[in-house]
Amino acid sequence: MNNLIYLDNNATTKVDERVVEAMLPYLKEEYANPSSMYDFSKKSSRAIKEARGVIKDFVNAADEKEIIFTSCGTESANTAIRGVLNYNKTKKHIVTTKIEHPCVLNVYKTLEKQGYKVDYVGVNSNGELNLDELRNIITDETALVSVMWANNETGVINPVGEISQIIKSKNPDTKFFVDAVQVTGKIPIDVQANSIDLLGISGHKFHAPKGVGALYVNSKTMITPLIIGGHQERGKRAGTENVPYIAGMAKAAELAIDNLQYEMTEVKRLRDKLESNIIKKIYNSRVNTGIAERVPNTTNIGFEYIEGELILLHLSDLGICASSGSACTSGSLEPSHVLRAMNVPFTAIHGSIRWSLSRFTTEDEIDYVIDKLPSVIEDIARISPYQKELQTLKNLKN
Ligand code: PLP
Repeated sequence: MNNLIYLDNNATTKVDERVVEAMLPYLKEEYANPSSMYDFSKKSSRAIKEARGVIKDFVNAADEKEIIFTSCGTESANTAIRGVLNYNKTKKHIVTTKIEHPCVLNVYKTLEKQGYKVDYVGVNSNGELNLDELRNIITDETALVSVMWANNETGVINPVGEISQIIKSKNPDTKFFVDAVQVTGKIPIDVQANSIDLLGISGHKFHAPKGVGALYVNSKTMITPLIIGGHQERGKRAGTENVPYIAGMAKAAELAIDNLQYEMTEVKRLRDKLESNIIKKIYNSRVNTGIAERVPNTTNIGFEYIEGELILLHLSDLGICASSGSACTSGSLEPSHVLRAMNVPFTAIHGSIRWSLSRFTTEDEIDYVIDKLPSVIEDIARISPYQKELQTLKNLKN
C-alpha cells in the first residue's frame, strides 16, 4: 500500500506521467517563442494550434478561435465576468449563486462596490439550485448570469442546459458564464448543446500542472481583455503563451476523454463504496447532499457533534488527505459558505469532510479508509462536549 492516500482531488490532482512527457520537449529543446518568424518556432506554434483544437473538442466548441488560454480557473472566471461587463457597460445587473467559488464570488463583491447590483440565487438542503428564484430574478437589465457547473465542496451538478434555456427565454441578450472547473474529466462538457456563452476550466483539476487554464468565449460574445499587451490569443489575453503547460493541458484533456467512462463508472463505484460504508459503520455520519445528482468522484459527509479539523489531523497522521467543509477565517473557524447556504444543521456543519477521488484512487485505498475511519471518529467523539447527543444518535442507529 502506498503510504499516501490522496482523496482531495477537487483541490488539485496528481500530474499524469504522460502529461509530463508531452510537456518535456517544450521545456527543453523546443523553447522558441511561438510568435517568432523563423523555422525554429514552428514546433512551438504548432503545439499551441494543436492544443487549441484539442480543447475545442474537449468542450465541443464550434471553432478553435473560441478558445483562449489562461493561467488558471481564477483568471478564466475574471476574464469572462469582467470581459463581458466591460465590453457593454450599459446594463448593471448580474445574477449568480450563493455557492460559487471565491474566484467568482469575490469578483462580484468588488463589482457591487462599483455600482453593480448582484443577486445571489440560493440552494435547497441538498445543494440544488432554486431555478424558480433564478427565473424570477432575470430582467431586461441583466447583463450576465454565472453559475458553476458543479460545486467544488459538494460535487452537486447544476443543470446548465436548463438554466441557459431559462436565461434565454427571459432575456436573449443576457450572457451565460459557466465555471466548469469541477466537471472536467468527470462528466461530458458540451458548450453548444447547453447554449453556454462563456466557460472556464483549469488544468490542475484534471491531471495537468497548476498554472494553466482555458476560457471558451463563443463567437457571438464580445469581451474586453483583462490582460493588455501583445497580440497573443487574438488580442483577448496578452502575454507569451505558456507552451509546455498548454501542451500538457491538451494531453490531459485527451486522457480525460479516454478515461471519462472509467470515471463515471469505476471512480463512482469507489466513491459510492466509501460513502455507503461510512454511513453504515459510523453512527453520527450523514451525506450532506441527500439524493442530489453529483459528479462521480465527490462525497461530502458530515460527522455530527465533532470538529472537522480534528478529523483531518487524525487522517493526516494515517497518511490520508481529505478536506474540511470549513475554512479558517482570521483565526475563527467559519463554516463553509456552501454548507451554510444549504442549511446543513449546526450539529454537522463543523464536522463535514469532502472526499474527492480520481482515476488514480485504488480499491485498497478506499478499503483502508473504510477500515480506519470508524476508530478515528470514535476517538474524537470521546472528547466531544456533546456526549448526551452522541449517545442519542448511537441509540437511534442501533
Ligand atoms: N472554480 C472552482 C469551482 C474551483 O474549485 C476552483 C479551484 O478550486 C477554481 C474555480 C479556481 O481554479 P484555479 O485554482 O485554477 O484558479
